[in-house]
Amino acid sequence: MSTATRPSFELRPSPSPMPDGERAARMENPGFGRVFTEHMVLMRYAEGRGWHDGVLQPYGPLSMDPASSVLHYGQAIFEGFKAYHQTGGGVATFRPFENARRFNASARRLAMPELPEELFVEAADLLVRQDRAWVPAEPGCSLYLRPLMIASEAALGVRPSQEYLFLLLASPAGAYFQGGVRPVTVWVTEDYVRAAPGGTGSAKCAGNYAASLLAQRQALERGCDQVVWLDALERRFVEEMGGMNIYFVFEEGGRTVLRTPQLTGTLLPGITRASLLELARDLGIDAGEFRLSVEEWGQALAEGRMTEAFACGTAAVITPIGTVKGRQGTWTVNGGETGPVATRLREALLQLQHGSAPDRHGWMHRVC
Ligand SMILES: *Cc1c(COP(=O)(O)O)cnc(C)c1O
Repeated sequence: MSTATRPSFELRPSPSPMPDGERAARMENPGFGRVFTEHMVLMRYAEGRGWHDGVLQPYGPLSMDPASSVLHYGQAIFEGFKAYHQTGGGVATFRPFENARRFNASARRLAMPELPEELFVEAADLLVRQDRAWVPAEPGCSLYLRPLMIASEAALGVRPSQEYLFLLLASPAGAYFQGGVRPVTVWVTEDYVRAAPGGTGSAKCAGNYAASLLAQRQALERGCDQVVWLDALERRFVEEMGGMNIYFVFEEGGRTVLRTPQLTGTLLPGITRASLLELARDLGIDAGEFRLSVEEWGQALAEGRMTEAFACGTAAVITPIGTVKGRQGTWTVNGGETGPVATRLREALLQLQHGSAPDRHGWMHRVC
């Protein structure tokens, strides 16, 4: 029998659902990525057989062969997006097909198989429906969805694995920053780079994160919250902040201008980044891409032309940058306070995601 036909997911939910009281206790102060729902989705891939054995089952540990190639050579990619309680009732995810497309772009870069977009979104819909009670209802809270794919063939030869495992986890997420949005202090690193031309910077792969941790630790040691990455070739042009894209606001002749570093191939093409470009234009803000060197950043601040800087991503939405430290010294942005453009865009995006503003671009995907 051909197994090339479209696989579906078998539903094997837990026979003993968690009591409401216990779930409520776990969801009380979930923070980020520490609490997981009762179920997960798994699917396997084998060369010649394709994707098969998709299943929704109780959340729990995996059993793996210690020779699984992901443990040795790191073929591992992931995604992150969220399901939101809707103001009018129900639950919806934000642009899940964009995450499916980016997952496949990452897969291609790491010589891994693609997963049909409909399967990616179907898996998320199934898990959200099953664990719907885990979607927090409080404003600013959401259910974070974490799809990943790892190389599961037990073989030490250095070549693409012939077997893979797709997994999908869900984690209730509180407001990312305890006590509200607070501008961060960033460290501009010239010692380390996140991504070089021809490398894996535009893929959401586990290795990029492993390679970033030392620079992040250096930032913490310097009293900063996050690291800012510069381009690998000249170490001049601003690329990203930690695992988030970055935006700058300028006042030019009484006009507000919003700019984000262009996608040169070494930046991760964030879905929040792309959405903010469009949302800002909806709000009548001149929004676009550019390149910004560290020198120009300092000049624009000194001349009062740059009024705000902020980072953006699914997990934390928008994070204002209050202080910039590096070899060049220390600069303050907007007196270290959250600026009006960051606040306005953050509100606009959250309202859209929670269904309390009209969905003009058709970005919300209704799940239940
Ligand atoms: C995931 C990620 C982002 C943000 O992408 P979103 O789709 O907006 O969540 C930005 N930079 C890096 C390095 C990332 O891994």
